Amino acid sequence: MIVARDYVFMCSEPGQEMIGKDIRDLGLNRVVVAACSPIMHESTFRRTCQKAGLNPYLIEIANIREQCSWVTENKQMATEKAKALLNAAVKRVYYHQPLETRKIPFNPNTLIVGGGIAGIRAALEIADSGHKVYLVERSPSIGGHMMQLDKTFPTLDCSACILTPKMTEAGNHPYIELMSYSEVVEASGYIGNFRIRIRKKARYVNGDRCNGCGLCQEKCPSKVDSEFEAGMGKRKAIYTPFPQAVPNIPVIDADHCTYFLKGTCRLCEEVCEAGAIDFGQEDEIVEVEAGSIILATGYSVFDPVAIHQYGYRRLDNVITSLEFERLVNSSGQTGGNIVLKDGSVPRSIAIIQCVGSRDRNYHDYCSRVCCMYALKYAHLIKEKTGAEVYQYYIDMRCFGKGYEEFYERIAGEGVSFIRGKVGEVTDRALNDEEKGRLVVVAEDTLLGSMIRVPVDMVILCTAMEPQQDAEAVARLFNISRSADGFFLERHPKLDPVATSSEGIFVAGCCQSPKDIPDTVAQASAAAARILSLISKGEVEIEAAIASIDEKLCSGCGICGSLCPYSAILLDEEKKFYKVNEALCKGCGTCVAACPVSAITGRHFTAEQIMAEIEGLLI
Ligand code: SF4
Ligand code: SF4
Repeated sequence: MIVARDYVFMCSEPGQEMIGKDIRDLGLNRVVVAACSPIMHESTFRRTCQKAGLNPYLIEIANIREQCSWVTENKQMATEKAKALLNAAVKRVYYHQPLETRKIPFNPNTLIVGGGIAGIRAALEIADSGHKVYLVERSPSIGGHMMQLDKTFPTLDCSACILTPKMTEAGNHPYIELMSYSEVVEASGYIGNFRIRIRKKARYVNGDRCNGCGLCQEKCPSKVDSEFEAGMGKRKAIYTPFPQAVPNIPVIDADHCTYFLKGTCRLCEEVCEAGAIDFGQEDEIVEVEAGSIILATGYSVFDPVAIHQYGYRRLDNVITSLEFERLVNSSGQTGGNIVLKDGSVPRSIAIIQCVGSRDRNYHDYCSRVCCMYALKYAHLIKEKTGAEVYQYYIDMRCFGKGYEEFYERIAGEGVSFIRGKVGEVTDRALNDEEKGRLVVVAEDTLLGSMIRVPVDMVILCTAMEPQQDAEAVARLFNISRSADGFFLERHPKLDPVATSSEGIFVAGCCQSPKDIPDTVAQASAAAARILSLISKGEVEIEAAIASIDEKLCSGCGICGSLCPYSAILLDEEKKFYKVNEALCKGCGTCVAACPVSAITGRHFTAEQIMAEIEGLLI
């Protein structure tokens, strides 16, 4: 030991300068820092060493914050433990070896999965910088949920009007290869060099020939519920989901097409003058290469059938928020008229917030948008029908720019706000006023009493949920999910767009529920991260990884079957296993599992670990 220093902000500029000066002036060949978690500042201190001419792996961190001062109030015990940890770090660092990182080329192409507003925004930002983007969307058109919405809060501008130009731009962009009606089936590789296999589902319409005239859809006799209209309208078996679809090429839904079901019809083929119908088309697998990936796969909507007492699908005129969006939309089935099932105009409407959100029976989390879109509904109902509006809330969360002002404005429009969770929606009348109507039963927590309000329509503001296939997608791309099922970001504050897999980023509601401005901001942030990687042109590969001694390897393959990153491959010629250095994260699973001790974890050798244990025990 040459020198010991004590400084309260060692990670600050003066602290780092102090370390650098000692390395240079005293010729230090090892450094130990006793401070906070290496997750926070190991890279900072490694850079300090490197700047001063010392290999960055010749430093060791003793974590005396999270492991001592934060976990006990007993100062004496904390000090004893800190001394032991420091002793262990000093013993260990003696055995550290200088390691060198490697750089590999970075493929400037980007894969974006999901063509909603997040995917479109990120794709345009990257493509506008002159870099190729593969934009994969599983529906026949890009647009996502935002395309289904009527107005956007708090500005009340038309959702489709602000999104359509962006969709068209993405569809025509020379640097965006749009793959709609397609799904990723396999992803392999690592940051800078991903290889992705994509299934392009058969549209049964030749996109090069189709001119989008729509005659086929007009003549098709087969009608089914439209997914886009959320059950509030129909589509044909050959269809584009909505008139502004990008691409404007229909698909044939083989599950409902008379020809596929019964072998007769082919009317669409008959009327198509462009000769675009192709019943012989088959799914196609294409392979693309990309340096980075953005997952922007969006969200699902909670199905309120589970909350039996709210009467959804049991009672007429109990509808979900998404159904209301289509009902009130001028391009929807009723031309934007808010009407009941029998076609009459409602005189009173209840809006119930937090359906499936902030409810320990379903989802603990807040969906973050329901308060605001419920206010928007209240405004639209007042504007279009003049009906009485009763808005049931737990808390009003108006956190965004202009949101509180929007709340004030709607509160001034004569909406009745009732603070309380609705217990039941029923058609059991207790008096003449309730007869033939829906009755909303709730506790008004401000009055401290139960109330019954008869209304003509009930709108359930349903929670945002992770996509049904979120688990499968997370497995496909080797990323983690948080307890609520959404994709897990690397750090909730310091790295909210990256994931645990290098080079894979998340944007939008697949990471957590959020509104449109936050979605767009996160998509732009993910694009910026990728552009910075592209501009470097190469990525640095971690040096603290596993290495296999080919002379000791027996070829049993246990390591390969256990590696969570698929980083161990068989060398077919030499019949031993080797580590793909770009994929290995240095987790150590294979090191512990190898029955002949042929694998070494660089920077975690047996000598280093034993020295550390010895230091702890003294
Ligand atoms: S009739 Fe033919 S050209 Fe017209 S939209 Fe249908 S497939 Fe395309
Ligand atoms: S074959 Fe008939 S049912 Fe099928 S998409 Fe064409 S028109 Fe519709």
